[in-house]
Amino acid sequence: MNIDNNIALEKLKKLVAIPSVSTDPERRNKIMEAAEFIRKELLELGCAVKFFRYKNYPPVIIGQKIVDKSAKTIGIYAHYDVQPEDPVEKWSSPPFELTKRGEKLYGRGVADDKIHLIQSVIAAKNLIERGNLENNLIFIFEGEEEIGSIHFEELVKKAGAAVGKSDFFYVFDVGMKEKNVPQIFYGLRGVISGELKVKTGETDLHSGIYGNRVLNPIQAIAELLAKIKDGQTHKIKIPGFYDKVKKISQEEIDLLPAESLNSKINPSFEVNGIYSGYTGSGWKSVIPAEATVKFSLRLAPNQKPEKIKPMVKKFIESNLSRQVKWELTLSPGSNPFYTDFNNPYTKKTAKILSNFFGNRCYFNRSGGSIAAAEILQRLFKKPVILTGFTLPDENIHAPNENIDEEMFFKGIVAMEGIFSL
Ligand SMILES: [Zn+2]
Repeated sequence: MNIDNNIALEKLKKLVAIPSVSTDPERRNKIMEAAEFIRKELLELGCAVKFFRYKNYPPVIIGQKIVDKSAKTIGIYAHYDVQPEDPVEKWSSPPFELTKRGEKLYGRGVADDKIHLIQSVIAAKNLIERGNLENNLIFIFEGEEEIGSIHFEELVKKAGAAVGKSDFFYVFDVGMKEKNVPQIFYGLRGVISGELKVKTGETDLHSGIYGNRVLNPIQAIAELLAKIKDGQTHKIKIPGFYDKVKKISQEEIDLLPAESLNSKINPSFEVNGIYSGYTGSGWKSVIPAEATVKFSLRLAPNQKPEKIKPMVKKFIESNLSRQVKWELTLSPGSNPFYTDFNNPYTKKTAKILSNFFGNRCYFNRSGGSIAAAEILQRLFKKPVILTGFTLPDENIHAPNENIDEEMFFKGIVAMEGIFSL
């Protein structure tokens, strides 16, 4: 193995060994250990480094490497926090020990998202050492991605001009279509989560005595859900719901893989859980007094949570029986994201990636949500390019998370190319 690859592997190993689990307040010291490790790496690149932090939450780390004030400036986003490792017993090797098996490297957070953070640092290091770094680089490393990027907007605003200097951003938190087949995402969905509690009485009732005489809250919820969405066509039947959805052009239809056209570009409504009544073993013939349903709505580009939420509320209001009491809670929601894939930076990036990997670079839209992409674009009005070097089925968020070793090394060289764009 060449020396550069060995250095990269060592750094990845050290970062994976730090359990930077952001969901666990008990491990805030570990988050800070990871942040300090990254500070050191950025200082070694000759970056000016600053932490932006809300209370004792994980900081956003900004590293500025300015080589030439008249050159382009590239913003580089990745996150250093990871999901919890449980269930630990399902792992074949200790989650925080980078372990090689076959062509794969295993460890918690190795794919999501430590691979990209290390790759970007090593790519910059290689360019600097060879005297080839011609663009300015702004590293934006987040530590709260796995807890919903709760302070990202506020902290990036604080970092202000340093981040805003970027001519465009790479968000490295997605993966390739398959091994050696690069992919750029230019659209993401937003999301709103909701909980509806329906109450029809003060206490559960005997179904033999009260059946046919009182409202059943589960029935009320079931009827409401059937009105919200057509289970066959998946169409959401809330009036006005689709009014603002960004129309898809023929160019985009030609560009997108079939599975994205069928699902990921459209808004969706899904029931996530429903509980009420008697659910133990055996039978209990009661009419429950209360029922609760949890649901989520994915929003397509141009739909705004603040416009959709009142529509949902109004629909529930006018479709639930007046005799039931109900209480609706909706999350603040996140905006969908869309960058014009014809912008020159995206096009140049695609060209560099496809030349390097020897395969066409796919353009795609994801059904998921990455808050940082939407926030960076909205705050700074610059193109955001989502790409990365993980592969599908690398067990992100699950036991035995892994990356492909070859894509780890090749991704570094690919980044050297796109940082020289
Ligand atoms: Zn991630």
